Amino acid sequence: MANTPYPQSYYAASANAMPPRPTLQGEVETDVCVIGAGYTGLSSALFLLENGFRVTVLEAAKVGFGASGRNGGQIVNSYSRDIDVIERSVGPRQAQLLGQMAFEGGKIIRERVAKYQIQCDLKDGGVFAALNSKHMAHLESQKRLWERFGHTQLELLDERRIRDVVACDNYVGGMLDMSGGHIHPLNLALGEAAAVESLGGVIYEQSAAVRIERGANPVVHTAEGKVRAKFIIVAGNAYLGNLVPELAAKSMPCGTQVITTAPLGDELAKTLLPQDYCVEDCNYLLDYYRLTRDKRLIFGGGVVYGARDPANIEAIIRPKMLKAFPQLKDVKIDYAWTGNFLLTLSRLPQVGRLGDNIYYSQGCSGHGVTYTHLAGKVLAEALKGQAERFDAFADLPHYPFPGGQLLRTPFAALGAWYYGLRDKLGF
Ligand SMILES: Cc1cc2nc3c(=O)[nH]c(=O)nc-3n(C[C@H](O)[C@H](O)[C@H](O)COP(=O)(O)OP(=O)(O)OC[C@H]3O[C@@H](n4cnc5c(N)ncnc54)[C@H](O)[C@@H]3O)c2cc1C
Repeated sequence: MANTPYPQSYYAASANAMPPRPTLQGEVETDVCVIGAGYTGLSSALFLLENGFRVTVLEAAKVGFGASGRNGGQIVNSYSRDIDVIERSVGPRQAQLLGQMAFEGGKIIRERVAKYQIQCDLKDGGVFAALNSKHMAHLESQKRLWERFGHTQLELLDERRIRDVVACDNYVGGMLDMSGGHIHPLNLALGEAAAVESLGGVIYEQSAAVRIERGANPVVHTAEGKVRAKFIIVAGNAYLGNLVPELAAKSMPCGTQVITTAPLGDELAKTLLPQDYCVEDCNYLLDYYRLTRDKRLIFGGGVVYGARDPANIEAIIRPKMLKAFPQLKDVKIDYAWTGNFLLTLSRLPQVGRLGDNIYYSQGCSGHGVTYTHLAGKVLAEALKGQAERFDAFADLPHYPFPGGQLLRTPFAALGAWYYGLRDKLGF
């Protein structure tokens, strides 16, 4: 990834100023070497620095180069799997811990933004939109479930109320979460990187970890240098490749695409999303969208299994946008890009230790903006010796994809085709 620039996204075009960061040369010594400067890595680094650890971050490209600088910017709390499904799989005690943590990531983001004065266009309010009565019944049962775990801020919207928050005729209702919301994701990552540096952490860019020497005193090697550390945190997620073969086996990078319109003007923007909430629908292969500060619509959807870059992103995503908002048929698309997230078979994050001193968190399978911020906190707690919350994630069961690394892509695509068909038929 030497000298890899950001993709040509709306976010890169509207990024806040960022300092030049060095490439690692020679040898450094630190308490914790974090591999990857996305939200997982940056959130871990920040919590560790706040707790007195010395931290060195190695980033293969640039801060926020991966999903953290390309995503839809939607602060969606909870996990990519329903908590009752998790409860059936892990039992009530572990589910209780996971359920209590499910809305913490959004709080952490808000605390970070306030404490370090991060300019990232933070807005409160996220809507889950129901396309049919089955979706609506699901939202009703989710609301009841979350209340059991102490999360009482969710509000159901009937067919009339959802029209007040989104000008789309396709929805029969929805659920509003005011602890959800949206941000400029790259600017959040850049602000967190600046916060890391303000506390004495060091971030090296264009410095891919190419080898980890394991053992009592682990060493991370880059092309031109090495980091000696007491602990390593692996936070490369879908961009990690095969650096840690154990982690590659149980997960699959997937591409997902986003488009951004030209500025719509205040009036049209306000007609589409009068309260400026973000929206995602309840399909398995879901569409999600929101406004930007300069009143563009950012619209995402679709999954490419195996993370191949599709040739014409606009041709894939624009029809989805027009299905929701036919009134945008004459609006120009200014940006279109793709990014990779990491899918696991259970759609739950993979968290754990390799030996005594290598920790990892990856694979939140779609909804990662909040989870990754929580992951940083939970990883830092574990390194401090308080591992109860870390272990609640680490004990989640995980299985390899059927077909292994060679055949997992066609198998997963087949699964997605099946779920896509169910979405279309309204099952
Ligand atoms: C297009 C898109 C839209 C999305 N929309 C949303 C959304 O609206 N809401 C939501 O909740 N989630 C969304 N997600 C998911 C969310 O963005 C991710 O779950 C989250 O950002 C993952 O953060 P991360 O830090 O774990 O990984 P990443 O942000 O991918 O960061 C990993 C970093 O590690 C670096 N790296 C990899 N290997 C090495 C190495 N060997 N050495 C050094 N560095 C390395 C990479 O360059 C990268 O910068 C979306 C994802 C995508 C791709």
